[in-house]
Formats: sequence, C-alpha cells, structure tokens
Amino acid sequence: MKSIRPIFGLIALLLLPMLASAAEGEVRDVRLWTAPDHSRVVFDLNQKVEYKVFRLHSPERIVIDIEHAKIISDLKNLKLPDPVVQTVRHGKPTPDVLRIVMDVKEKVQPRSFLLKPMQGKPYRLVVDLTRPEQAKKAAVTAGESKSKKGLIIAIDAGHGGEDPGAVGPRKLYEKQVTLAVAKELAKIVNATPGMKAVLIRKGDYFVPLKKRVLLARKSKADLMISIHADAVRQRNVEGASVYTLSERGATQDKAARALAAKENAADEIGGVEIDQVDDPMVNMILGDMFRRDSLNSSQILAESIIGKLRGAGPIKYSTPKRARFVVLGAMEIPSVLVELDYISNPAREKKLKSSKHQKRLASALFGASMNFFEKMGRIKSSTGQAKSSAGLKSAADQKQLAVNSPTL
Ligand SMILES: [Zn+2]
Repeated sequence: MKSIRPIFGLIALLLLPMLASAAEGEVRDVRLWTAPDHSRVVFDLNQKVEYKVFRLHSPERIVIDIEHAKIISDLKNLKLPDPVVQTVRHGKPTPDVLRIVMDVKEKVQPRSFLLKPMQGKPYRLVVDLTRPEQAKKAAVTAGESKSKKGLIIAIDAGHGGEDPGAVGPRKLYEKQVTLAVAKELAKIVNATPGMKAVLIRKGDYFVPLKKRVLLARKSKADLMISIHADAVRQRNVEGASVYTLSERGATQDKAARALAAKENAADEIGGVEIDQVDDPMVNMILGDMFRRDSLNSSQILAESIIGKLRGAGPIKYSTPKRARFVVLGAMEIPSVLVELDYISNPAREKKLKSSKHQKRLASALFGASMNFFEKMGRIKSSTGQAKSSAGLKSAADQKQLAVNSPTL
C-alpha cells in the first residue's frame, strides 16, 4: 500500500498545470500601431488564452472573443481613431467570454496569432487588420519602379512598433532615432537630382526582417542601409560600427555574432508569425549567384560609411565587421547595417536625440553613398558642377554633390 502514495503525488502534479490554465485570463494592456497598409492591435495577456477573431458587417466590425478572460486595461492610451480602427469597446456576451469589438472604417482582412513571453514581454495576442486597397497600391508602386530612372537608396529604419530596439538610460528608443535619421537621409537623397530614397519603414510600426529585404528588392534599390543604435551594460562605451553580411557559416567574431543574434531577434519582439513572409527569393539569400560581387561592394560601402561617420562622431571599430544579419539578405543589393552609436551611453544618447546630430549622421551616410556610387562608376565625379541640394552646407559636402546625373 505504501507504494500508492507517490502515485497520488504524481497525479496531483500532473493536474496542477490543468488547474492553472483554468484560471482567468487578463487583458492587461492594448496597443495600436498604424502601418501604411494595415493596423496592428496588440493585447498583453497574463497567460495563454483560447480566442477567436471574426468579422461582422454593416457596420464593419472585428470581434475578438477570448475565453475565460477579463480586461483590466481602460483602453485610454489608444490613439483613436486610426485609419482602420474607429472605436474599441468590450463586453461579456456570456459570463465565460470577454468580447472586444473594434469598429473599423472599411472591410479589412483580420489575421491573428499568439506570441509567447520573451525578453520581458508577456503573452501577446496580435491582430493585424490589413486594408486590401492599400496593400494592392503598395504592390503596384513596387512594380512601377521596374522602369526606374536614377539611383535608388533603400533606407531601413531599424525596429518599430512593438519592438523599441535598444532603450537608453533616459528612455530614448532606438526605433525613434533610426526613423529620425532615416527620414533625414531620405530628405537629402530626394533633394539630389537623379536619386530617390525608399523608406522601408515610414512610421512607428514593425516591419518583419524578411519583408524589409523584400521591400528593398521590389524597389530595385542600388544600395541598402539599415540604421540601428547599439547598447551594452558598460555605459562609457561609445562609437559607430558598420556591418556586412558574413559568408556562409558562422562568423568568428563573437561580438558581431552576438549583435546579429540581437538584431535578428527583432522579429520575435516585433511580432512575426512563423512563415508570415514567404517569398522564395528570400530563401536564396545565401545562394552563390550574387554572393561574391555583392559582398565586395557591401564592403566598399561599409568602408565608405566608416570614413564619413568619423567626421560625425566617435567610431567603435575602424573596419567593417561581418555577421549573419537577416536584414542584409538581399544578396544582389550592396547592403550594410550601421550601428550609429551606443544609446546606452548617456552622453551619446543625448547626441542621438538631437536633431542637429541626426542631420549630421544622415549627411555622413549620404556622403558615403555618393562615394560608393563614384567608386562603383555609377556616377561620375567632376568639378564645378555642384547642384543645389537641401541639408548640405559644408564645402566637403558640396564637393560630394559635384556629380553628373547618374549613368545607368
Ligand atoms: Zn537595432
């Protein structure tokens, strides 16, 4: 008889998780991120929940039913209306169900998934509401650029939306800095005859890493710069560093490998369902076709950027480093990832926040791009033909602009 006891103990242990899952779920916070072609609503949860999402028509509504749950967020922080979501309300159609109703402006395509807790984030329910017309428009725009004229620079502002990136001691978010510098750079590029900027991210929303690659490809970019800011525990560390994609296999550089792992985790933090972006092109990222050429030109671009960033602030590594960054996966496009500085350093955080410094960094990235195009023979360097351009005042920068129209 003695031997029965441990079995009872075991049964009790097995029952515990079942009991725990029957406990009530809580929606603790709700956030809304607006992208050009969709809006993303994110619910913070205390535990895994059973839920369903469906549409109701006239008027258009999206309904989210969560079983055995209550809401303890007052939804006050939602900036409503957004281009999709007009209002959000909730109720209890039955005692067991929490119903959240979103009144939406048009017929949207809902898509939802649960994210497991990670990096301090709780269980999250993500509901993406895609605007079919806007999504179609985006596809058409990308197609149009096939007959492009001039040089196209894809500018990728790292992180966004659910993913703040690194956070400074004074709570400056990497995603804010990257977007500000990206927009400044786009301004300078677009003010330059024969050049066009494509902003991969235009606002505070998340773009999956592979989608960033896809967007750069669709825009037929001649180069891609992914903009970031780094963070470490030691607050005195400072300076910029520039990365290119490493060739097949693991990189020997431990620090670079760790950084790539950190940046590649953006998808999990920002919220990507497995296989959400399934483009066959993306799967050939390490194919041989463009590898050698592109790696060489990416290296030249990276060296150019380090050279120019020297004039804008401290440099952490004086030569480019390599690691396997997912965002650098467009093998046919010279692509680099730039860590502008350390946002974890209070003095550098202050700099990164200043719009004057942001402009300086953008000018440096632009100057480096021009250098690169010159070296690659994509533009001719000449004298006495300086063209007017916004955002550049120094003599050195004017000299950078003394170029002929791009020859393609
Ligand atoms: Zn980053």
